[in-house]
Amino acid sequence: MKVIVIGGGVIGLSTSYFLVKQGHEVVMLERERDLASGASRANGSQLSYSYVAPLASPSVFSELPSLLFSRDAPVRLRPQFHLHQWRWFMSFLRACTKKQSRVTTERLLRLSFYSRQLYQEIAGKEALAFSYRRTGKLVVYSSQKSWQAALGQLDYQKSLGCEQKAIGAGECCEIDPSLRDIRERITGGILTPSEETADCHRFCLELTRLLLSSSKFTALTETGVRRVRSLGDRIIGLETTNGVIDGDTYVLAAGVESRKLALPIGIDLPIYPLRGYSVTIPLASLGDGPSLSITDYANKIVYAPLDGALRVAGFVEIGGDERAIAEDRIDILLDAVRKTFPRITDFSRVQPWCGLRPATPHGTPIVGQTRYANFFLNVGHGALGFTLATGSGRVVADIVSGKAPQISLDGMLLKDGAGPEAAGSYADHRPQSAMQMGFRA
Ligand SMILES: Cc1cc2nc3c(=O)[nH]c(=O)nc-3n(C[C@H](O)[C@H](O)[C@H](O)COP(=O)(O)OP(=O)(O)OC[C@H]3O[C@@H](n4cnc5c(N)ncnc54)[C@H](O)[C@@H]3O)c2cc1C
Repeated sequence: MKVIVIGGGVIGLSTSYFLVKQGHEVVMLERERDLASGASRANGSQLSYSYVAPLASPSVFSELPSLLFSRDAPVRLRPQFHLHQWRWFMSFLRACTKKQSRVTTERLLRLSFYSRQLYQEIAGKEALAFSYRRTGKLVVYSSQKSWQAALGQLDYQKSLGCEQKAIGAGECCEIDPSLRDIRERITGGILTPSEETADCHRFCLELTRLLLSSSKFTALTETGVRRVRSLGDRIIGLETTNGVIDGDTYVLAAGVESRKLALPIGIDLPIYPLRGYSVTIPLASLGDGPSLSITDYANKIVYAPLDGALRVAGFVEIGGDERAIAEDRIDILLDAVRKTFPRITDFSRVQPWCGLRPATPHGTPIVGQTRYANFFLNVGHGALGFTLATGSGRVVADIVSGKAPQISLDGMLLKDGAGPEAAGSYADHRPQSAMQMGFRA
């Protein structure tokens, strides 16, 4: 079968990988000159399988004043005169209940654990260089309140299969001596030894290299999809900047742009861009920075060691899809690095970046079939796209191939046989609930 995959980010590439493995011919369309130019470029590098609690959590209500009015808050709303923003935000607020958060967390854990298994299989089988390491993740807390809340969640996370333990400030600094300069402000930490880090951009490039070695894969860059053509219950082609392209089956994996492409064919995807920032700091000495993935919970910033560099990521801005880098955000990130890891002194080669997380209100992606028999979705991975890429790539490839996915996709599928109004509409994808334990960039 000839499958057209729209979007050359980590989701489109992972989907292509499994489709090719299952014997399909895949043509990937990417509007930019380079693959992985969107959110998959310089994200937080966390394969955060155990920290999947959605942004929508009961704590959002107590944080509303800073969310609305503080310019420097790690999570903030920039109100705009867009109906879509308000619909999304209201759905998001409805998801901020403890019950819904727990349901969402359980669903995401099922997909993230499956993803972990697949990353490990891929890394064992294919020779891919993408700084993939089982570093473990340490979330450090700086207030009694947040630390006690984290302890309260430990047992719940354990009951869902997460291996985590609470440690004191001294042990945090023993595990990662680069934290010794901030020992005084650490109340405690939660260590998750099974978490991994890797370079998402490199993963995409390496996967592309591997795929291109197969005659079944073609990547057409600088080929933007302008319109999806439908006839009855089928998609009959794509109008692109390089003419009409058709196949037997289509998979939409265009990140934040997915909504614009699906809307004209009656699929109203509840995806909104959540802007975030990162800096990549080449390290003169590997001893200067952390050796494992660190999350500074108070500042909601994540640190990941990559080969010869440190990736620092943070901020969630709900508002607008501009891609310009705001210098004040970068300054805040760099300021946090200076205070947390004062032994890092060379900031002359810092690479700043900003990206748009394709987020659903409740935090679960949308995968699987639409009302069109040959049109499938792999969209809305929000802050977890790298973590969930292999799992959701595999389940979508299975569905396209007519096979039963190996995990339950409860809460992530469009309803069977749903019409365009219901398929992917906000009502259909009403958020479920939230639980706050850690933070992902
Ligand atoms: C600051 C930040 C930190 C993050 N940290 C982490 C992390 O630590 N761990 C984690 O798991 N996730 C993280 N994420 C989230 C993760 O990066 C995203 O969820 C993921 O990259 C989404 O992948 P995607 O393929 O869906 O989208 P993208 O990577 O954006 O890819 C979509 C592609 O589709 C292309 N496209 C768009 N429109 C069209 C069109 N019309 N025609 C053809 N092509 C088109 C785009 O050019 C783009 O290349 C982070 C995100 C940000 C912003």
